[in-house]
Amino acid sequence: MKKLSRRVALLGVGGAVGWGLSGLLRPDLPTYAGTNRLVGPSGENILDDASGLSATPIHKHLHVSDSDQALVERIRSELAEARVAKRPLNVGAARHSMGAQAIPRKGTAITFENAGIEIDSANQSFRAHAGARWLDVITTLDPKGWSPKVMQSNNDFGLAATYSVNAHGWPVPYGPMGSTVRSVRMVLPSGELVTCSPTQNVDLFNLGMGGYGLIGVVIDMEVEMVKNSRLTPTFELMDASDFTVNYKKAIEDSAVKMAYGRLNVERESFFQKALLITYRETNDQEKLPVAGGSGWMAHAASRLYRAQLGNETFKSFRWWNETRVGPTLGGGEVTRNSLINEPVITLDDRNPDRTDILHEYFVGLDAFGSFLEASREVIPASYQEFLNVTLRYVAQDDQSVLSYARVPRVAAVMSFSQELTHRGEADQARMTRELIDRIVEIGGTYYLPYRPHATIDQLKKAYPRVEEFARAKRQLDPELVLCNNFWDQYLGQL
Ligand SMILES: Cc1cc2nc3c(=O)[nH]c(=O)nc-3n(C[C@H](O)[C@H](O)[C@H](O)COP(=O)(O)OP(=O)(O)OC[C@H]3O[C@@H](n4cnc5c(N)ncnc54)[C@H](O)[C@@H]3O)c2cc1C
Repeated sequence: MKKLSRRVALLGVGGAVGWGLSGLLRPDLPTYAGTNRLVGPSGENILDDASGLSATPIHKHLHVSDSDQALVERIRSELAEARVAKRPLNVGAARHSMGAQAIPRKGTAITFENAGIEIDSANQSFRAHAGARWLDVITTLDPKGWSPKVMQSNNDFGLAATYSVNAHGWPVPYGPMGSTVRSVRMVLPSGELVTCSPTQNVDLFNLGMGGYGLIGVVIDMEVEMVKNSRLTPTFELMDASDFTVNYKKAIEDSAVKMAYGRLNVERESFFQKALLITYRETNDQEKLPVAGGSGWMAHAASRLYRAQLGNETFKSFRWWNETRVGPTLGGGEVTRNSLINEPVITLDDRNPDRTDILHEYFVGLDAFGSFLEASREVIPASYQEFLNVTLRYVAQDDQSVLSYARVPRVAAVMSFSQELTHRGEADQARMTRELIDRIVEIGGTYYLPYRPHATIDQLKKAYPRVEEFARAKRQLDPELVLCNNFWDQYLGQL
């Protein structure tokens, strides 16, 4: 019961699929004969990501769970082999990025599996294998009373992958996860093993953070943790235009440990109302319960979420449920670890004809009004079904070269349901570009792990240091051994 409100609210940060427009226009892109339906190729030497439509030919796919020196040697040997064969190599974890950002075309794809996590309580940190998933981390930290400081809202993702996209979460008042990394050990394209941190090999550390696996292969890392705690939620319903004033107050309130917002999504009154949910520590912090997984309430919420599809009445019903019923039923106590110990599968739509597409935009707090206006003008006019938006806070990030938070930002995580057809994809690509134009115009940024619909010009505007990043990459990796679609489609064109 206690988890209902938060899980209802975060549903919609779900999986996403679709081809990029460039793929869409390719004559080799298959369709079901006589239909408009999008289908990706499949087969032994084809690798896809969570999108189900990033299918890319590869040379081989290895699952690797070696650690320490054995892992370093393995990576050196695979890099040497790839270099001789002039093939790219790329490492991934859960492959939930949605534009083949973890897939090397015709190359060596390596999936890291967890091979160990050690807690260092005295230093309030843990050292973990690069392939550890957040579920592994929570399972290790929770019994000892610790919790990840910053991670995504789901527990499936890899640790090094999280550093490599520089993901953010909803504990406040933190910046992206990279700001909680004490050090990483990575094998550079040359085979050299380096330790990088905010004080050692700083340039490499900042390139690798949000560097999409193009700088080095992360072997293991030391990451900060905080005490797990028992929290109680508060729900505040307001006009969307008042959201940032109240959100700012919540972020500045040191008693608030986690916070997020939601907006209503009915087409007629799109983004007019907001719900702010904040969590504070309770007085009783003794005997915290074990971090749970998805309960039946989360699954029930998932059904309600899906019922919104093409149904404006259900969208209103869900909003009423979240803003009126949720606070009553879901207003109880819950631990920090339970709130973040949620698998993506709970959100799965199991509909072969449609797919969820994620978008994410970052705007300054003072630009939130313009963001609402742009969203109202662009989104309801599209052909897409908009299911959910979650608002988060991201503190300024001056470390990552490809930073998406050059000032403190509100992050808007959007979930669309897209028809798996060429017309659905074309509309999605058109709408994404329109939205990016509007967001960039107001000083905002879009997030890079999702569908690769942005133009190169939009990338350059949203990430002013992207050319510097590409130059550094070419210097470090002149033979372009560490590559994936993010390089092929974007950075390699600069
Ligand atoms: C349902 C859902 C919810 C999400 N919620 C959030 C959220 O709350 N906040 C947020 O910020 N993002 C969120 N995301 C985006 C998510 O953080 C990224 O898609 C992330 O990449 C997922 O991790 P992964 O293990 O699937 O990474 P992968 O897709 O496997 O890899 C991502 C990148 O990391 C690189 N990489 C992986 N391992 C290594 C390594 N060992 N060394 C070097 N590079 C490596 C890869 O090359 C690739 O470029 C969400 C995505 C989904 C689908």
